[in-house]
Amino acid sequence: MDMPKKIVVAGSGLVGSLLAIALKKRGHDVLMIEKRADLRSLVMSAGKSINLILTAKGIRTIVKLGLWEKVQTILSPVIGRMMHSKTGEQAFQPYGKNDTECNFSVGRSDLNKLLLNVAEDIGVKILFESSLTKIDFETKKVTLDNDEVIAYDLLFGTDGSGSMARKELIAKIGSEASYKVEALGTDYKELLMPANAKGDYPMDSKSLHIWPRGNHMLMALPNLDGSFTMTLYMPVEWFKDFDNIDNGEAKFKKYFEDNYADAIPLMPDYINDYYSRKHGFLGIVRMKPWVYRDQLALLGDSAHAMVPFFGQGMNSGFLDVYTLLALMDQYPDNYSKIFSEYDREQKKNGDAVADLSLDNFVEMCERVGDEKFLFRKKVEMKIEQNFPEKYRSRYGMVTYTLIPYYLTIEAGFIQDEILNEIIQEKTSLDEINLEQAEKLIDEKLVPWFIKNNITVERYLP
Ligand SMILES: Cc1cc2nc3c(=O)[nH]c(=O)nc-3n(C[C@H](O)[C@H](O)[C@H](O)COP(=O)(O)OP(=O)(O)OC[C@H]3O[C@@H](n4cnc5c(N)ncnc54)[C@H](O)[C@@H]3O)c2cc1C
Repeated sequence: MDMPKKIVVAGSGLVGSLLAIALKKRGHDVLMIEKRADLRSLVMSAGKSINLILTAKGIRTIVKLGLWEKVQTILSPVIGRMMHSKTGEQAFQPYGKNDTECNFSVGRSDLNKLLLNVAEDIGVKILFESSLTKIDFETKKVTLDNDEVIAYDLLFGTDGSGSMARKELIAKIGSEASYKVEALGTDYKELLMPANAKGDYPMDSKSLHIWPRGNHMLMALPNLDGSFTMTLYMPVEWFKDFDNIDNGEAKFKKYFEDNYADAIPLMPDYINDYYSRKHGFLGIVRMKPWVYRDQLALLGDSAHAMVPFFGQGMNSGFLDVYTLLALMDQYPDNYSKIFSEYDREQKKNGDAVADLSLDNFVEMCERVGDEKFLFRKKVEMKIEQNFPEKYRSRYGMVTYTLIPYYLTIEAGFIQDEILNEIIQEKTSLDEINLEQAEKLIDEKLVPWFIKNNITVERYLP
């Protein structure tokens, strides 16, 4: 057991709530402060909360904290992607060998509410409608927007991409900090596909539906009530264009009819939905360092906000929590060591997963229609199916395994070399020489896995 500390967690989003539970379970006195009202008291309709994909690295932290059974009750399994063409054809790409190899869709607010309930049940104190505004690192005190001053032994910044804890850290260390926000230039808006008249799902509920259209796309993830949350991604200028009071709505209608015709009969209110909701910003936040001495650590989006195209923002935030807990076990009560090691290990992962998220955006937008790229994907799938114990695509490593993000990038380079050699001038799957593939994997990839002490085994709770 740790020596009990007075801990302040700033921000009760997904990462803050999970962290607060973990710290309380370790015997600390935990106070969580949250800028917004208690979301459990708000009435929120389906489709107004982003649906998230929960994957291996996130699930492991939930399991570690003994919450998997509870969390499972609010998950919808997703077993593959359903790609929708402009002319309405659908093509299904399974995620794994069978239905047990799935991802899970979860409503952000459902998960957040569950975590807030658990946190309160085990004794975490939560102050809602209270913002962190200032940190005094000398006296170890935070000031809230109502001028209340609270002392801490340890402070955790889990206050999201616009983090005040991060701003205060930058103000404190000045030029020792490096901080950058990269806007993507593509933003998003959520729409709703309601349940049908019988209360059932209007499309296959076990798929992540994607309408890929180059630099814009529509995505759909199932909710528990038969509806789908739809997320529309478009260049920022298009949002402005469609907001034009003269002809914006007509342009938006035409855009939707041209691109998502098969979804329209299932989304009777899409125009109203579009104009009654705000669009969200997408970008990457890079920050260094994530910690201040033995006092402060940033976790989740406050340390590493990213674009959502790999579905790893929350998952990587949960990995932050996991890493921190492992270090607390390894260096009991030595917080300067715990924080410096956390910064060293997780910063690499945070940078890597941000890069991966950006790369996947390019893949979804630009490469998805490129024949050579699609052939390469098919070859990779064939190899993965033939040698599942020693080859996993980069997507598979990120999503299903516990391999750290930065190592998935390194493995990806080796796999690219292997694929280049195997494919050369070939254009059909029958020409792929599996013996050559296995030899290359054994020569180049397997020794690298052994050196890094990792396996491509799928993590299942
Ligand atoms: C469209 C979209 C789709 C996504 N899909 C996925 C996905 O499929 N899988 C996935 O893993 N991730 C996904 N993400 C990313 C994921 O939503 C975030 O990474 C995750 O919510 C970050 O959690 P957090 O707790 O760090 O921050 P947040 O959820 O932003 O929580 C921060 C909290 O801090 C509070 N706060 C802010 N300032 C203060 C202050 N000064 N004082 C006190 N409290 C404060 C806020 O009110 C908020 O409650 C997606 C994101 C988007 C936008």
